[in-house]
Amino acid sequence: MTSLSASAHIDPSPGGILNLVRSGASASRADIARAAGLAPSTVTARVEALISNGYLREAGPGTSSGGRRPKHLEVDPDAGVALGVDLGAHHASFGLFDMGGTLLAERHLDMDIADGPQKILAWIAAEADAMVRESAGNGQQLRGIGLGLPGPVESPGGRLVSPSRMPGWNGVDAAAMLSVLAGVPALAENDANLMALGEQVSLAEDVDHLVFVKAGSSIGCGIIASGRLFHGHRGMAGDISHVSVPNAPQTLCSCGRIGCLDAVAGGAAIVASLRRAGVDVADTGEVLRLAEDGHPLATQTLRDAGTRTGGVLATIVNFFNPQRLVLGGNLSEADAFVAGVRSAIYTECLPLATDHLEIAVTRAKALGGTIGAAQLMLDHLFDTRVINESLA
Ligand SMILES: [Zn+2]
Repeated sequence: MTSLSASAHIDPSPGGILNLVRSGASASRADIARAAGLAPSTVTARVEALISNGYLREAGPGTSSGGRRPKHLEVDPDAGVALGVDLGAHHASFGLFDMGGTLLAERHLDMDIADGPQKILAWIAAEADAMVRESAGNGQQLRGIGLGLPGPVESPGGRLVSPSRMPGWNGVDAAAMLSVLAGVPALAENDANLMALGEQVSLAEDVDHLVFVKAGSSIGCGIIASGRLFHGHRGMAGDISHVSVPNAPQTLCSCGRIGCLDAVAGGAAIVASLRRAGVDVADTGEVLRLAEDGHPLATQTLRDAGTRTGGVLATIVNFFNPQRLVLGGNLSEADAFVAGVRSAIYTECLPLATDHLEIAVTRAKALGGTIGAAQLMLDHLFDTRVINESLA
């Protein structure tokens, strides 16, 4: 007989129990026994093993449903620290987190990705070392580094594949290099993917179907499907930069094609378009300031970029039916850009796709990429199979 269960499968192994506590789904031994369908004595034995191996600790009384107040469990924050790094073309953000996912310290520094992988990754390893020495507790060890990269990252594999504006990085396995330089495990992922992950963990409610759009100097996108980061077959899922925009200006893209979304709606394209019209702007930040001051052409150019981005996203909303569409990157700070995205989506999508769709500006903001990068590493360190093998 086939039996179908409405609830998600709960892994009753010690690693599964650790992740139940980590996710916030279960906070006491009684919760775990109920969720995993285990005898209380089995739960007690598995929790004791997780506590004595430094994965969990008691955290005082939880809420009682009558009778004895249950002891509250949490991930032991003293089991080490994990670093999340988000690299842009000219900027790097670092976030140091304890094993429970609490931010301990952050740094935002200028750099130049064109300096190449050897120099940049050695610099990251040195910054990681300094941050752990200055901000982690006594004797706390760095357990791993998650790294966000502003280009396509192959999955599985982790190699950068033909990234634009990243000279010297093509074919580089940045995680493997960083792991050697820093002496700890490292994982690399496309930055927009990590921002999607960072946004998901920053939301108070569970969102299982989320599209995150990073609209900065270029436009990227990451997808959470059924609660997990979605890579597609080779890691290219969500890469909307080079989707062709109908009726757009015939602008040459960095990929060599004409009229890609990146070339007609990214921040660099907006700056170039305003300069051609005689407006003297150096970067996207200046365009945003002009729009805030009510500059008509800057405002119109931002709205047009939003409408073109929204047109591409409308296809994705119709196809993927997300619960939440999140706009991040500095263009999301411009009301005109966000208004353009919204109007295109509501014009072009079916009502069933938009009735319950939340279109929102990022909550994780500038730290989203580092939160996602650290989460990537914590998920790896707390992988159920790895935990079970370490306890066997
Ligand atoms: Zn292109």
